[in-house]
Amino acid sequence: MQVWNTSVKVFECIKCNQPFSPNDYLTGCPVCLEKQQPSSLKVLYDQDISWSINKSAKGMFRYADRLPYKTFPTLGEGETPIIKMKGLEKELGIPELWLKNEGQNPTGSHKDRMSPLIVARAASLKRSTVIAASSGNAGASLAAYAAAGGLHCKIVTTPKLNGPWEKAIRLSGAEIIKVQSSLERWDTVRKLVEEEGDYPATNYNIPPVGSNMFGVQGYTTVAYEIVEQMTECQPTAVIIPCARGDLLWGIWEGFVESLRQGWITSIPRLYAVEPFSRLTYVLQGRDYRGEFKGDSSLLPSIGGETVTFQSLEAIKSSGGGAVVVTNTEVEKAQRDLAKRGVFAEGSAAITWPAVSKLVKSGKIDENDRVLLMITSHGYKGV
Ligand SMILES: [Zn+2]
Repeated sequence: MQVWNTSVKVFECIKCNQPFSPNDYLTGCPVCLEKQQPSSLKVLYDQDISWSINKSAKGMFRYADRLPYKTFPTLGEGETPIIKMKGLEKELGIPELWLKNEGQNPTGSHKDRMSPLIVARAASLKRSTVIAASSGNAGASLAAYAAAGGLHCKIVTTPKLNGPWEKAIRLSGAEIIKVQSSLERWDTVRKLVEEEGDYPATNYNIPPVGSNMFGVQGYTTVAYEIVEQMTECQPTAVIIPCARGDLLWGIWEGFVESLRQGWITSIPRLYAVEPFSRLTYVLQGRDYRGEFKGDSSLLPSIGGETVTFQSLEAIKSSGGGAVVVTNTEVEKAQRDLAKRGVFAEGSAAITWPAVSKLVKSGKIDENDRVLLMITSHGYKGV
């Protein structure tokens, strides 16, 4: 079912740059964790082995030469469309505005780029069970790919999990474990990983690191697709909904590799959108390991009171930033997008009002070609 990519050379901490032999580092870099500065690792491929896009392959398999597993269970993920939003660019004073609709993935969110690689990794380790802490999208996605790959799945969530997600997870055969709070989910995952040998898809460290690094590699394919699909005119700014920054980091890595390959001449600035100030505060100087309070009641997919080092690193390295969009602004954004034919989850529609805020603050101007990541469709009822 899964074939390891022999081009994988070494894993490297994104904070201290320490190299590690390819393996599972479930709580990130051991050296940084010891110093209580949790940080994730990245995958480095052998630069002496050239690679190319497999033009005859579908979806994420086009970029299999730069994924840790060259084969994995598939439900038809990736190759999501980029749509030009006509008329709005004039209103905003920018030349081009597009959106990339990740809602068209098999379970309706970008998480479908992560799940197949996690299931492939778990299967290669002969683990029988994968586990995730999830508010919905990651859980529904992992449950579906575990079912497709013949593995058992446990989803640790809270009583707030809404109906469509709960039904999708339950019908796939996955076990749903409900705990009271978002942070409590991580303790439960840790216990099941350590005591029962379940293979984790998501973080369980506090303060957190990114999700399972094999899975996060799947998000590099978003950047490769943007580069492939937008041949005429590459974006200068990409706007991404953000909680723990897995998608943000994966897109950053994909653009770095695209630049190395000479497919693009510069990397777009990456902007993280959040429901209340978390990254915004950290970019102003607060410690990334802190807790940040705020209301994200309508935005379960990007809630939580923590940030990760990987988010910070992707934003800083790309010259981007963070922007806050509140619950009430999101309701209007959902309506605005739906009126243009795009029904997005609130946590995805959040990128739309972020554009005008970035224009108003002067961070995006008349020279910018802007791409919004619409991470999930709205049929989940949130
Ligand atoms: Zn480190």
